[in-house]
Amino acid sequence: MLTNILEWSGFSSLVEASPMPTAIYEGPDMIIKIANQAMLDLWGKDASSIGKPLSVAVPELENQPFFGLLAEVLKTGVTYQAKEDRADLIVNGKIQTFYFTFTYKAIKDAEGKTVAIFNTAADVTELVNTRKQIIETKDRLSFALQSAEVGTWDLDPINNHVVWDNRCKELFGFSGDTEVLYADVLNCIHPEDEDRVQQAVAKAIDPAKTGAYDIRYRTVDRNHQQIRWVHCKGKAYFNKDNVAYRFAGTAVDITAEVSGRRREQQLLSLVDHNIDHMSIADMDGNLIYMNNAARRMLGVDQNADIAQYSAIDFYTPKELARVQGEIIHAISHQSGWQGVISLKNRLTDDHIPCQVNYILIKDPVSGEVIGRGATARDLRPELKAKADLQRLATIVEISEDFCNYCDIQGNTIYLNRAGSKLIGLYNDDVHTKTLYDYHTTSSNQLINEVVLDELKRSGKWSGRLELIHQETGEIIPIHKQMFMIYEEITNEPVAIAGIARDLRPEIAARRLIDEKNAELNNLVKELNFLADSQPAVVWTSTPDGNLDYINQRWSERGSIPVEEALGSGWTTTMHPDDVPVTVKTWEYSLESGDPYQAEFRLKDKDGNYRWWLVRALPLKDEDGNVIKWYGSNMDISDQKELEKQKDNFLAVASHELKTPVTSIKAYAQVMETLFRRSGDTRNADLVGKMDKQVNRLNSLIGDLLDVTKINSGRMQFNHTTFDFNELVEEISETIQLTTQKHIIHRELKYNRPITGDKERIGQVIVNLLSNAVKYSPDANRIVVYTEDQGSNVQLCVQDFGIGISKEKQDKVFEQFYRVSGTREHTFPGLGLGLYISSEIVKRMGGEISVKSVKGKGSTFCFTLPIE
Ligand code: ADP
Repeated sequence: MLTNILEWSGFSSLVEASPMPTAIYEGPDMIIKIANQAMLDLWGKDASSIGKPLSVAVPELENQPFFGLLAEVLKTGVTYQAKEDRADLIVNGKIQTFYFTFTYKAIKDAEGKTVAIFNTAADVTELVNTRKQIIETKDRLSFALQSAEVGTWDLDPINNHVVWDNRCKELFGFSGDTEVLYADVLNCIHPEDEDRVQQAVAKAIDPAKTGAYDIRYRTVDRNHQQIRWVHCKGKAYFNKDNVAYRFAGTAVDITAEVSGRRREQQLLSLVDHNIDHMSIADMDGNLIYMNNAARRMLGVDQNADIAQYSAIDFYTPKELARVQGEIIHAISHQSGWQGVISLKNRLTDDHIPCQVNYILIKDPVSGEVIGRGATARDLRPELKAKADLQRLATIVEISEDFCNYCDIQGNTIYLNRAGSKLIGLYNDDVHTKTLYDYHTTSSNQLINEVVLDELKRSGKWSGRLELIHQETGEIIPIHKQMFMIYEEITNEPVAIAGIARDLRPEIAARRLIDEKNAELNNLVKELNFLADSQPAVVWTSTPDGNLDYINQRWSERGSIPVEEALGSGWTTTMHPDDVPVTVKTWEYSLESGDPYQAEFRLKDKDGNYRWWLVRALPLKDEDGNVIKWYGSNMDISDQKELEKQKDNFLAVASHELKTPVTSIKAYAQVMETLFRRSGDTRNADLVGKMDKQVNRLNSLIGDLLDVTKINSGRMQFNHTTFDFNELVEEISETIQLTTQKHIIHRELKYNRPITGDKERIGQVIVNLLSNAVKYSPDANRIVVYTEDQGSNVQLCVQDFGIGISKEKQDKVFEQFYRVSGTREHTFPGLGLGLYISSEIVKRMGGEISVKSVKGKGSTFCFTLPIE
């Protein structure tokens, strides 16, 4: 039957036509009964192989398991099936490895004896190789992932099933063999990152979005209480319904990186905010980094790109030379340099002394030098503080006040120069003494009972203490200020500083002042008493003329109280007629600072006006400015009254005298004529002499009358135009008749008429010539000269007589003034002639003056306006 099948040519054709490599081997020698083309191709042989034993046709199979397997199938009749078995075949003359999935099936005869073997084989070499490649790739990948410590995860979002590799599990704090559910994963996310992760996942598996997943978050290892940073990257895959069926990716532990970056960030922020300058430059001096403090110090904008600057921009030329010359060398050869250097602010050009530390920066791995770093501290505050401190120390040292510094027990640590001198404690001895040694017992008691408590409570105390001079034992009163000094950090009191002022000069000065004050008070009292006891009203005034003091006398006389009279109150009581002149005079004195004198009337208590002679003198400072006016008012009312009475009397007396004297003169002239006619010349001469005396009497009475007229303002003038020369000639000739001794020379240069009272002008000339004769008894010459002064005429009478001393020259024009002296008294007169003359000249608008040298003679001159 079976033989039939094999014999059946149809079977043979079937095999031939099969695309699957097929062959049939017969007998123990495995004669190739049938082998289709596919099998022949598989072996790499041709049809000549058919009819040959398999071992002959495909000898390369010899050392491979196939012949054994075939023999086994032949012997046992059990079909052998192999999957992807390897077979090395010689194809195209070279041995190649193939993989086959093949079957050795026993073909049995009627007795069940295996007569042939049916072999089908499928070449799966390609499949096997591909699979091998896949496995290799996978291995490689997993190795790579493993070595990179990358974990992989794979989530089925539909079923919430997750596949994790061990690394991934580790990252989330699970051991390798644990079964992990998605819920567990969520549970491992740091609470603060949960939301973020959820959102990222939601976004990744949202078909409308990109599906990319890239997130860094923290995981919490519950077992080990450990937090890790992981960086997860992944991608979602969507099915045709647009539902994510797979979401897979990697997870990397970035804890080290994050903390490293954090550390770096922290460090950078620390450096950035460091108050000291910090900068880094490459080996060519190009700046790479500069912190904020450095930027501020050197005038670089906080946001400026530092790469545009070079280190040389920030040195003064001198310092740059130093840096390039020695410092860079030192940095390179000694791995750094420290010292003081001046940097430069590029905006202000300020030079900034800095304590600088340069270091060489090396690559930590290769050791290659990659740059230079610098830290710099601005020394200006320090230098300033030092200088301030130095200054302070100097001030304290040279201070004239006692300054000391003790520890809390009172041991003296420091005593300045003035202090040493004040208490006679010098140099090393200072440290052997406590403050109790140089204060008196009572002061020490005060220190212990009050001062220390106060110092502890408020930190300071001031008051009076007494020191003891260590050499002389003198007790020195002082005013002391004490301060507690506290330790800067713990605020513990550590020392007591003291400053003291020697009170001796002050006390002495105060004593002196007290004494002087007492003296002054007495003086003021005395002066007030003196002022009040004065018969006069005494007052003082401010420089602007306001009265600030009036003595008690005022209250006896004034019509208003002293308080009201002060300032300018007193003027309200003045007689209205006197106000204009008085005010003008007072204002003139206030302005010029010249002494003030005036006569005016003030109303008294009874409402009557009284005359006052007021005089005031200014007290001036060094610059001549008036400080105060001192004035006195003398009551001259009685005097004024007497003057009035005298004037009245004179007027009446001279008027009453005039009539009898005129009669006497008339009788005398008659008598002289009678005596002469009767030839009695002796009596006629006597009566003639009498007439002369009557003339003198007449002239005296005339003078007195004139004075009363002047005083009462009743002197009259009759103006006419007349020949001045003629008048002078006439009078000169008349006066010449009265003297034999003198010759009156005339030098009359004026020869024009003038207008005026001829009689009165004549009276003046007579007066001057009579005086010249009278007061030059030993001289023999008198000169009269006139001068034309244009609008004025001047007449002078010069004598060579007794003269008038300088100080008396001005007074000769005053009423009743006569120069006193033994000599002068021998000349008769009333002292009225010059007074009357000067009044006449002044009233006529002219001036009168005298030049004289005592013992040499005088020249009296007057000028008169021609019109
Ligand atoms: P009397 O001559 O009547 O005394 P006067 O008024 O004429 O008064 O002169 C006043 C005073 O001036 C005189 O007393 C005299 O002392 C002085 N005196 C005037 N003229 C002269 C003079 N020519 N030489 C010196 N003294 C003179």
